[in-house]
Amino acid sequence: MRYSQLLLPTLKETPAEAEVVSHKLLLRAGFIRKITSGVYSYLPLGLAAVRKVERIVREEMNNAGAQEVLLPMVQPADLWIESGRWEKYGPELLRFKDRHQRESCLGPTHEEVITDLVRREVHSYRGLPLNLYQIQTKFRDEIRPRFGLMRGREFIMKDGYSFDASEAEAGKTYETMHYAYHRIFSRCGLKFRAVEADTGTIGGSFSHEFMVLADTGEDTLVICRKCTYAANMEKATAMEPAAPSEEVALLPLAKKETPGKRKVEAVTEFLGITPRELVKTMVYLADGKPVAVLVRGDHEVQPVKLKNLLGAIDVELADDKQVFDATGVPTGYLGPVGLTIPVVADREVARMRNFVVGANEKNFHCLNANLGRDFEVERVADLRMVTAEDRCPLCGAELELTRGIEVGHIFKLGTNYSEALNARFLDNEGQERPFIMGCYGIGVSRTVAAAIEQNHDKDGIIFPLPIAPFQVVLLNLSPNDEAITAAAEGLYTALAKEGIEVLLDDRDERPGSKFKDADLIGIPYRVTVGKSFAQEGLVEIRKRATGETVSLPLAQVAAELGARIRAELA
Ligand SMILES: [Zn+2]
Repeated sequence: MRYSQLLLPTLKETPAEAEVVSHKLLLRAGFIRKITSGVYSYLPLGLAAVRKVERIVREEMNNAGAQEVLLPMVQPADLWIESGRWEKYGPELLRFKDRHQRESCLGPTHEEVITDLVRREVHSYRGLPLNLYQIQTKFRDEIRPRFGLMRGREFIMKDGYSFDASEAEAGKTYETMHYAYHRIFSRCGLKFRAVEADTGTIGGSFSHEFMVLADTGEDTLVICRKCTYAANMEKATAMEPAAPSEEVALLPLAKKETPGKRKVEAVTEFLGITPRELVKTMVYLADGKPVAVLVRGDHEVQPVKLKNLLGAIDVELADDKQVFDATGVPTGYLGPVGLTIPVVADREVARMRNFVVGANEKNFHCLNANLGRDFEVERVADLRMVTAEDRCPLCGAELELTRGIEVGHIFKLGTNYSEALNARFLDNEGQERPFIMGCYGIGVSRTVAAAIEQNHDKDGIIFPLPIAPFQVVLLNLSPNDEAITAAAEGLYTALAKEGIEVLLDDRDERPGSKFKDADLIGIPYRVTVGKSFAQEGLVEIRKRATGETVSLPLAQVAAELGARIRAELA
């Protein structure tokens, strides 16, 4: 491809709308343009990167035995009513009526459509296992779309759905998909981790998120420094606390004036103790009902764990007024002793002795409170966020907290959708059973954005070779010089013959802006034909990621690059 003929509108300035680095660079590099909030057009280079990811996804899904289909983007309301999600899904589901007043929606996901397809077409265990996927545009009407391709309303996704006859078969399919996802993100050239994810009410350890590691990621990952343990913040758990020492004598409960001291720091400083010797009482509203949660002073409640413990649909932290309405105590002085709302405690609290709590009276705290002696709780469970001071639940080694971007999610659905939609098959004994399902998503456009979040510098994108729109950008620095142009054109042909995807910058531009654009668009190899070719017959190869350069005679360049690229992609 010739740059002079390519729609590649690079920008010198960063558009004000862009907040995160991938959004800034995708706009500046001329990869995408916004049409309306959260909706983008893909220009040729943006689409080329997306297609590269798609190709890897297709190859690995096909290798894993999945079959590609293409499901409709417009879906009838009937199916969503049948699954119960027409009501539950909320305003992210874009609903509308067609000219016959039939209600429809734009597909944010395709469990209903695929389950409907399979219930119509597969009636026997002989048709199983079945694993179907598609690569398609999805629409979710996010209230506040941000960050370009990271969180758009319209986006390109691979979604796959598996149908199995038994739990054991479904487990095997899950493992096959887990492996395929490892292959996919490895082949994309990304640093990533698969982490255990929360499965909500379904339970079990059958959900993993695939996270591209990046300092700018919005998710926190908990990773063991020694073993394979990795989980997201909602799911991560620490090594179980040691049992309380029997030797610590319980001291008498004592009320102590703590005038104006509401926050943990203020109370502990006033009392001359550490936050580890205090228990916070946090009030949450679980489906509107107040519940007090006890955690150690230096810990934070993890709301998803609380939600799962209570079996609630929604939990939120109560505000000061809601706390006062529920307990009659101003925020900051709340404690479990004599509290009338339900109380649950993090398991760390159950291990503590003689700790400080609020006295349920303004300006007072209690010293030497003890669970079991001074108050009871309804449940004790792991309810807190893991910290960097915690130890691995599997091996006891140190944990590391790092940041990532979710690009894939695999999930064992069980029979939720097949039961709701009455999708059944006859097993080998003639028994009717619901299909056991799994679902497997990859944010394709998001993967491109995540790759940029992970790989960039001040000059622009640094694409991993496997997903770069071109492998080589060839700069003709003097398009008006006959010898240099002849050399560049000859090399362009030779590179193409080597099977290399090459962009020839044949524009009549200053060398400086050609170098700048080459860095900005992030092509892995830059080849320059300019002054040193005119003087010494040498052509420069520069690797974008490392900046290392080598100058070679013109005739050797195509073979050298061909060898390097084949080696890197192997
Ligand atoms: Zn470990």
